[in-house]
Amino acid sequence: MRTPKKNLYIPHLISGGLITNYYCTSACRHCLYGCSPRWEKKYIETSMAARMLEIIGQMGCRSVHIGGGEPFLNPGGLIDTLGAAAECGISVDYVETNSSWYRDENHGITLLSRLRRAGLNTLLISMSPFHNEHIPFYKVKGVIAACRETGVGVFPWITEFYPEIDTFDDRTSHHLEEYQAVFGIDYLDRIPSRYWIHFGGRALDTFSASFPGFSSEDICSRNATGCSELRDTSHFHMDLFGNYVPGLCSGLAIQADHLPGPLSHSEYPMLSLLYSEGIGGLYSMARHRFNFASNGSYISKCHLCLDIRRHMVVDYGVETMELQPLDFYRNV
Ligand code: SF4
Ligand code: SF4
Repeated sequence: MRTPKKNLYIPHLISGGLITNYYCTSACRHCLYGCSPRWEKKYIETSMAARMLEIIGQMGCRSVHIGGGEPFLNPGGLIDTLGAAAECGISVDYVETNSSWYRDENHGITLLSRLRRAGLNTLLISMSPFHNEHIPFYKVKGVIAACRETGVGVFPWITEFYPEIDTFDDRTSHHLEEYQAVFGIDYLDRIPSRYWIHFGGRALDTFSASFPGFSSEDICSRNATGCSELRDTSHFHMDLFGNYVPGLCSGLAIQADHLPGPLSHSEYPMLSLLYSEGIGGLYSMARHRFNFASNGSYISKCHLCLDIRRHMVVDYGVETMELQPLDFYRNV
């Protein structure tokens, strides 16, 4: 591998979140982190949460959101994480939930009351056709009602989908094909213009037919510069394994203890290559060292990047601290 010219450096953090777990009751088609019930049932240790929050504070960020996976799958762990944030003097803007944990009114109010006492102020409640493929809508409605009872703020993400989801029987989940039957065959294709989706993770394959595709060579020539996105800290994440996810590049990792950098080329050869030369550098390296052959067409450089990295981990068994967590590549 050629020696890249630039060292990746993350001088400060603007706004971001803590990932408590990657296992999830859902397996949404647009999930950036490839979460699903198939992931190992690991939840952030309180000491790890404290360490990540300490680094976040030292790097200039005084508030976070908490997300997953589904953070409510371990209520005790979530309470401890909220406690760790309070200890570190980091405020929690909101906790994300898909509402799958909701059983009934009494259970919802009891759990939210406990969390409220532990420092929960606002819940980001996911509502989308992707979530509704796995989660009956009565649970979402139940959590909203329980928030009102307990004084927890509601941040619905996003309300625009509410009437569409509510068209269907709320006691069961509903496949996207049902939405297409009611709202038009182009329903999926229209979603990106209505809902913020980051085209990474599972969204790349899901939307591959919705956008024009390009060959690997075209992608590389259209994106001839290094990936400055790796330095973006406007929506950063740190996870339960001590990883910092650069930019929104899920499946790439920097050990949070190595922040702010500069990262050495020998410890982070792939990130250094992507940062210096961009997708063309990674593609060239993967063809020569890992016999990578492109799989048709790609909607973006990140689509090709993910395909290369998945090939390295799943087909070649590459294990490196830059390509973490490994379960991402098995589940995305
Ligand atoms: S988008 Fe949220 S609810 Fe859906 S699989 Fe990912 S973490 Fe789970
Ligand atoms: S090509 Fe890879 S490193 Fe560059 S922005 Fe996309 S996912 Fe990140």
